[in-house]
Order: sequence, then structure tokens, then C-alpha cells
Amino acid sequence: MPAHLLSGKAFAEAIKQEVKDEISGLGYKPGLTVVRVGEDPASAVYVGSKVKTAEEVGIRSEQIHLDESVREAELLARVDQLNADGDVDGILVQLPLPRHINERTVLERIDPAKDVDGFHPINAGRLMQGYSALAPCTPAGVIEILKRSNIPITGANAVVVGRSNIVGKPMAALLINESATVTVCHSKTRDLPDICSRADLLVAAIGRAGFIRSEHIKEGATVIDVGINSVSDRDLLPRFFEGDELDKRLAAVEKRGATLVGDVSYNDANEKAGSFTPVPGGVGLLTVAMLMKNTVAAARMRRGDQPHSL
Ligand code: NAP
Repeated sequence: MPAHLLSGKAFAEAIKQEVKDEISGLGYKPGLTVVRVGEDPASAVYVGSKVKTAEEVGIRSEQIHLDESVREAELLARVDQLNADGDVDGILVQLPLPRHINERTVLERIDPAKDVDGFHPINAGRLMQGYSALAPCTPAGVIEILKRSNIPITGANAVVVGRSNIVGKPMAALLINESATVTVCHSKTRDLPDICSRADLLVAAIGRAGFIRSEHIKEGATVIDVGINSVSDRDLLPRFFEGDELDKRLAAVEKRGATLVGDVSYNDANEKAGSFTPVPGGVGLLTVAMLMKNTVAAARMRRGDQPHSL
């Protein structure tokens, strides 16, 4: 029997509607400022989508676009201004930054109370310690998919492949906080298929197209595919897709020059998993919705109308 597809669309729409309803009861509009540096085309698309979604749910949003050549000190000064601006509830500096700018220095300059990406060490530390925090949007979106799909997390054997600060580590922290038993794997892990194939919940955040295959997947497992890889080589696609899905992917390469492929082989997950998230149309859709949720949470916490504060 083919696996159940955990589409992110309905969950993302539901979260956006919840945020919209919450904002309509606030009596003020939370404000989100997104800072983009340089001309990275993917960043331009991501930022455009964040700003557009913010407007849709009733968040005041502003994009600050700085030249590729901006000095680190200038960028830090802009962050300081936003930190001091009472109308700004959420600040997001879109990554990657140009090579001459130290990402860590910039991310650590953002006021943790306005850090809607959840990348500041204060938020990462609070998350790790199990306290309320602005959590990174992508792993927080994974938890929403699991909960809203009624997939048990408590006591589950969860394996996260990837240990980045943006996805793998916060994903592990969130799963621990939900009482899963968590193993984190990375490029130095020995016998990855053996560890993965014992997971009830397998989260792949690697950045390698179709890397997770049948031998990594336990029969009936829930497989969450965070990876987003652009594949332009038509010959690679039959390894991951078959039938109508393959035809769709080949047509996409023909039309747009590439198709987005996750870290999990679609065919293998479809044959062996109990349920899995597709790419595109899975976790990625939740990321922007969770950013909206974080912005409202930041606005409320900063104004003291949430029970907990940062
Ligand atoms: P990253 O910083 O490059 O981290 C990749 C992780 O995968 C590292 O921990 C690395 O191990 C591990 N890895 C690489 N090769 C491996 C192998 N052969 N076996 C086991 N582990 C291996 O990437 P990231 O920022 O976490 O992103 C991961 C993927 O998620 C990317 O495809 C990215 O585009 C996607 N992503 C999606 C969203 C979304 O909204 N859906 C958001 C963010 C990222 P080491 O630490 O040992 O190098």
C-alpha cells in the first residue's frame, strides 16, 4: 500500500488563518522587518513570500534591501535601529549573507525578543533547556505537521539526520521537549542505515537529493523530508520517482530547467514509510506560516500580553 502523503498545504493555511484570527483580536498590528543583503535570487524569492504572507495575515511588514557591498558595521547599525524601534516586533536577516559579513555576529546582534527566526543563542539555549522560546520556523513547522496529523511523538524513537543550528539541532531539541527519544546523525555517523531504519520518526535535513533510501526507512515509519535540492539532471530523476510523478518532474525540468527534490527518495518512502512529507508541498510550506506565528508571539510577549516572557 502506498504511504500516506503528509501535505503541508492544509496545515500551513490553518496556521495562517489562526494567526490572522489572533491578530484581529489584538487591537494592533504586529510589525515584521526583513533585511536582505545583495542579489541572491533564492533569497529574493523567500523574502518576497515572507513579506506577502505577512500582509495577508495582517502583519505590517517592511523589507530593507541593502547593497551586496554593505559593510558589516553598517548592517549592525541597521539591526541596532530595528532593535530600538518600538513598532518593530520581529526582525529577520535573510541568510546567506555576503562572505565579508560574519553571520554569527549579525544574528547575535538581534534583540532575542525580536528574533523571529529563532537563531539567537539565547533562544537556542532556552529551547534546549525546555523553556518558552522563539523556535526556528522549519523544525517548529515539523512539530506542527506531526501534531496536526495525530502522529505520536511521546516515546517515539526519533532520528534526525543533520545537525545544523537552523534545522537539525533545534529539531532534536523540540523532539526531546515533546518526549521523543532522539538520535542525531551527521556526516561522521557510522552505519547510518542501521540507525535510521530503527526510527519511528525519521527527519532528513541533509541537503543531498534522494539520499535517504529504502534501507534507511523502517516499515511504516513517519518520514519528514526537510531537504530542498534543485535537480536539473533528467537522468537522476528515475532513481527517485516513477509513473505520473516522474512525468511531472521531467516536464518541470523541461519547462523551468530544474525540479525541487527532497533528501528522501520519493519512491522509497512511498513504498516503505507509513506516511511522508513531499518536496515540494511539505515542510517548506510550514516555514513561512511559522514565521508569522513567531512574529505574533514576539509582539505579544514584548507587550506583556502573553503569560510567559523572554
Ligand atoms: P547544512 O547546514 O548543510 O547541514 C547539513 C547536515 O547534513 C550537516 O549536519 C551534515 O553533517 C549532514 N550531512 C551531510 N552529508 C551527510 C551524510 N552523507 N550523512 C549524514 N549526514 C550528512 O544544511 P541545513 O541548513 O540544515 O539544511 C538541510 C536541508 O534542509 C537543505 O536541503 C536545505 O535546503 C533544507 N532546508 C529547508 C528548509 C525549509 O523551509 N523546508 C529550511 C532550511 C533548510 P556534518 O555536520 O557532519 O557536516
